[in-house]
Amino acid sequence: MNCCKRSVIASVLFGALVFSGAMGARAQGKLSPKWEELTADDFRSGVQQSKGTCVLPFGILEKHGPHLPLGTDLLNVRYASLQAVAEEYAVVFPEYYFGQIFEAKHEPGTVAYSLELQLRLLQETTDEMARNGCKKILIVNGHGGNEHLLPLFGQAQMDRPHDYVVYILDGERSKPGGPAKKSTGIDYHAGENETSNTMVSHPDLVHLDRATRESGADQKRVNLPEDVYTGIWWYARFPNHYSGDGSVATKELGEWNMKNWIEAIIEALRAAKADDQSLRIQNEFYEKSKHPLDTRP
Ligand SMILES: [Zn+2]
Repeated sequence: MNCCKRSVIASVLFGALVFSGAMGARAQGKLSPKWEELTADDFRSGVQQSKGTCVLPFGILEKHGPHLPLGTDLLNVRYASLQAVAEEYAVVFPEYYFGQIFEAKHEPGTVAYSLELQLRLLQETTDEMARNGCKKILIVNGHGGNEHLLPLFGQAQMDRPHDYVVYILDGERSKPGGPAKKSTGIDYHAGENETSNTMVSHPDLVHLDRATRESGADQKRVNLPEDVYTGIWWYARFPNHYSGDGSVATKELGEWNMKNWIEAIIEALRAAKADDQSLRIQNEFYEKSKHPLDTRP
């Protein structure tokens, strides 16, 4: 009995909270930046408010050393993107983690779609975003394994006409000037930087005490000139899918990294909104591509 009474009171209270929350949001005229949280009508307003500029934060599901969650890249890129759009409004596409991650297929929890599907899904996603008014799409990359995929995708937009522009912002970069780093070696994946970032975005998901259970050292198992690429390079050097030392991470370094990343996203959003040239030049290019023999210098 007690329990039911409580639940009735709870649901009345909850209803009142939801109602006042909705009223509050309306009264302030504030729209959620999250695509999935908007009503159809508010979505229209959101796209208008963002001047047709939308964000696609791109994560992945892969092992992150012995101490960070599989969705670290997705969690961090969404955290940074949502902080950025609080400053410079744009509609943010829901969770997207369908990227390139073949090199971690030997580890538990990795979701590695085929290359064909990655490219097709990304194209259909940006096509659908554009069909819904997102004519400027900023892909914020949160995953190192996408570093070649995304420029390829961007370049592939020249293959056939699109009525929108894709902008790609590469992953977070550790800028100089912040708190001194404690580790001195290579820090590519789940190391000091990324662990510090996750301590800011999702501190409850960081198991710092487990960070030394595996080695994130470069095992240098191939010896090739720097300008020779081979796909096995990552596994050869970092077979534990861990690169660096996450155990020395600090919240201060994470705050510095995140601040820089958020600022870079805001800058990219403002640049995309102000860009009135790319689409015009794209259209000129598509038109000329139809009859190349008429093209004169
Ligand atoms: Zn990562």
